[in-house]
Amino acid sequence: ALTDKLSRLVKEMRGQARITESNVQDMLREVRMALLEADVALPVVRDFIARVKEKALGQEVLGSLKPGQALVGIVHRELAATMGEGVSDLNLATQPPAVILMAGLQGAGKTTTTAKIAKYLIEKRKKKVLTVSGDVYRPAAIEQLKTVTRQAGAEWFPSSPEQKPLEIARAALDYAKKHYFDVLLVDTAGRLAIDEALMQEIKELHAALQPVETLFVVDAMQGQDAINTARAFKEALPLTGIVLTKLDGDARGGAALSVRQITGAPIKFAGVSEKIDGLEVFDAERHAGRVLGMGDIVALVEQVTANVDLDAAQKLAAKVKSGNGFDLNDFLAQIQQMKQMGGLSSLMEKLPTQLSAQAGKVDMGKVEKDIRRKEGIIQSMTPLERRKPEIIKASRKKRIAEGAGVQVQEVNRLLKEFEQMQEMMKKMKGGGLMKMMKRMGG
Ligand code: GDP
Ligand code: MG
Repeated sequence: ALTDKLSRLVKEMRGQARITESNVQDMLREVRMALLEADVALPVVRDFIARVKEKALGQEVLGSLKPGQALVGIVHRELAATMGEGVSDLNLATQPPAVILMAGLQGAGKTTTTAKIAKYLIEKRKKKVLTVSGDVYRPAAIEQLKTVTRQAGAEWFPSSPEQKPLEIARAALDYAKKHYFDVLLVDTAGRLAIDEALMQEIKELHAALQPVETLFVVDAMQGQDAINTARAFKEALPLTGIVLTKLDGDARGGAALSVRQITGAPIKFAGVSEKIDGLEVFDAERHAGRVLGMGDIVALVEQVTANVDLDAAQKLAAKVKSGNGFDLNDFLAQIQQMKQMGGLSSLMEKLPTQLSAQAGKVDMGKVEKDIRRKEGIIQSMTPLERRKPEIIKASRKKRIAEGAGVQVQEVNRLLKEFEQMQEMMKKMKGGGLMKMMKRMGG
C-alpha cells in the first residue's frame, strides 16, 4: 500500500505541472528577453520562440521541476540542438591540396583564425599546411599572416599588394600541388561593412579555387547586425562552416544563433583567445547556457532529475518500511546511482562559476575514485555476503580485499559506512525519502 501511495504521489507531482497556454506566455517573454539581451537578432528570436512554444505546450513536467524550470530546460535543449546540428570536423575529403577559404568582415578574426586552423591541422590531423594572403589592400595584413603562420609552424606563400588576389590564389594553389601540401588556407580581405566589389572578388576566388571548406568568420561580440553580415555572405558564397571568434570576451554570443539560422552552416570552431592556440571545437551545449546567461545550471538540473531513478527509489522506500532491511545490494545501487548522474566532476563543471569555485575546494577526482573503489569492494562479495553483511568476518574480509585489490582496512571502512547508512535508513520514513528527492530535483 505504501508503494502505491508513493507512486500516486510521484504521479501527482508530475501531473500537476504541465506547460499550458496560460502559463507559457509569461515564461516565453522571459526567454525572449534573455535572447535579446544576448544579442540574438530579433527575427531569429521570433522564429525560435515559436518553435519552442510548439515543443513546450502540453509537455509534462518531470519530477519536482516547476513549469518555468522545465521550460528553460526545453529552451536550453532547443538552443543547443539548433546551434549544434550538423557539427563536424573540417572536411578535407578531396584530392589534395584541400583548399579552405576564409571569409568575413574586417576585424572578425580571419587572419588569426587562419593560423589557428593551420596549427590545429598540423598538430591534430598531421597535415602539411600552406597559407596565403589575398588581402592586397593592406600591406600589413600580408605581414601579419606571415608572422602568425610562422608561430603555427606552417608554411607561408609570399604575396604582395601589387598582385591581384586571383593571381595570388592561383600561384599558391599551383605551388601547393607541386609541393604536395595537404591543405591550402586562403586568407582574404574584409571591409568594415558589406561591400559589393569585395563580395565579387571573393566570389571569383571561390570559383577559381573550388574550396572544400568556405568558412565564415564572425565576431561573437557582433550584435544585432550579425544577421545582415551573415545574409550577405551566404548569398555570395556556399558557406560550409562558421567560426565564432572572441568568445573569451564577455559577450553572451547570441550571434551564434543568428548566424547559424541564417546561413544554415554548422558552427565548427570557437576562438577563445588572441593567441595561436586559442581555438576550440564549438560546444553547442555549453554555448546554449552562455546565451541564456545561466552557466550550465539548466543542464545540471536536468541531468539530476533525469537520472534519479524514481522507481528504484520507491522500491527502496518500500523495502525500508516493510522491514526487509537495507543491504549491501541497496548500498551498491546507491553508489551506482551517483555514478549514473554523469560523474561528479562533470556535474561540478556545470555549476555557475561562483558555486563551482566553492566546489573546487573539494577534490572531485578523489571522490570519484573513492566511489569506484567502493563499488569494486562490494562487487567482490558473494550474493549471500551482500544480503547478510554480518557474516563477513576476518577470512571473508581478506578474500574480498584481495578480489578488489585493496587493503583489509578499506573493507572495514566500507562496512562501517554501510552500517551507518543502514541506521539512517531505519530511521527514515517514506516521507523523508520523498523530501530528499525533491531537494535533488532542485
Ligand atoms: P581579420 O581582419 O578578420 O583578419 O581579423 P584579425 O585576425 O586581424 O583579428 C582582429 C583582431 O581580433 C586582432 O587584434 C586579433 O588579435 C583579435 N582576435 C582574433 N580572434 C580572437 C579571439 O578569438 N579572441 C580574442 N580575444 N581576440 C581575437
Ligand atoms: Mg586579416
